[in-house]
Amino acid sequence: MNQLHDNNNESNKKFYQCPECGLHYKDKDQAEKCEAWCKEHKSCNVEITSSAIENKKIK
Ligand SMILES: [Zn+2]
Repeated sequence: MNQLHDNNNESNKKFYQCPECGLHYKDKDQAEKCEAWCKEHKSCNVEITSSAIENKKIK
């Protein structure tokens, strides 16, 4: 049961992914907002995507 591999890259599973742009969110709410926005506008809302995991890593 030992996990030899660093699972950091796999940990995205516990986040919610916007199927439209592929960004991950901690909040299901945010992910749904992003998905709705992406579908409607065919682009990303900076206010929403700024809270994506991918963008949180960048200081
Ligand atoms: Zn999105």
